[in-house]
Amino acid sequence: NAAARVIGLTKTYGSGEARIVALDDVTLDLAEREFTAVMGPSGSGKSTLMHCCAALDTADKGSVFIGDEDLTQLKDKALTRLRRDQIGFVFQSYNLVPTLTAQENIVLPLAIAGRKPDPDWYDAVIATVGLGDRLSHKPNELSGGQQQRVAVARALVSRPRIVFADEPTGNLDSRSGAEVLDLLRSSVSDHGQTVVMVTHDPVAASHTDRVVFLADGRIVEEMRDPDRDGVL
Ligand code: ADP
Ligand code: ADP
Repeated sequence: NAAARVIGLTKTYGSGEARIVALDDVTLDLAEREFTAVMGPSGSGKSTLMHCCAALDTADKGSVFIGDEDLTQLKDKALTRLRRDQIGFVFQSYNLVPTLTAQENIVLPLAIAGRKPDPDWYDAVIATVGLGDRLSHKPNELSGGQQQRVAVARALVSRPRIVFADEPTGNLDSRSGAEVLDLLRSSVSDHGQTVVMVTHDPVAASHTDRVVFLADGRIVEEMRDPDRDGVL
């Protein structure tokens, strides 16, 4: 069963001599409860793929199904609802609101949607984030790893079907990176979410269920159970 399905996704930037094919007919199934890593050289299209899948950017051609809905066919209002209810996104640069506390940042998407957090779910997310009394601190009083954990919690709190994370450990030391990975792993294993993570780090990728390699906007290789096979 697919949480998301990418079909023939193509995206170009610029035109004429300067035309760049960022994604070239990418087709990919993302199963429910699966943790996928996307790897590939810089410029291979990883961020573009994440952005198009999360409706943060529009493709030229192709479809992105989240469940049964093709987000490339949705109008603004329906798209906003889909993005809000079913998609979480974690940015490499955290994108936290500096004037809000960690806790306020975490519940911000729900506040914007006019919803209250599900208490059990909220407690579970907060417990796995493990920030303790730092929850009342502002982002500039937190370490990079703590800020990234806040960003992950913010992406999880509305209980989206699928979470896209663009290099969520890229700015972190290995210990903080491991904590963020644990959090993403637990959202898959304990909470049944689907996570797709861009990473350059083979150690991070080895914690996933599946690795997809991009090069020049195409999927060039795919591997399941990277840890078991010991390839990374
Ligand atoms: P990756 O995340 O793998 O580093 P990107 O998806 O960021 O790759 O970029 C894929 C290609 O598209 C690269 O050649 C990049 O320079 C180009 N690209 C990405 N975003 C833009 C943009 N906004 N305008 C023009 N070119 C872009
Ligand atoms: P990442 O580190 O996630 O791969 P990049 O550094 O490739 O991200 O890109 C960061 C931002 O810059 C993205 O929003 C991307 O769309 C934009 N970008 C990337 N390459 C280009 C480019 N050649 N021209 C314009 N914008 C670009």
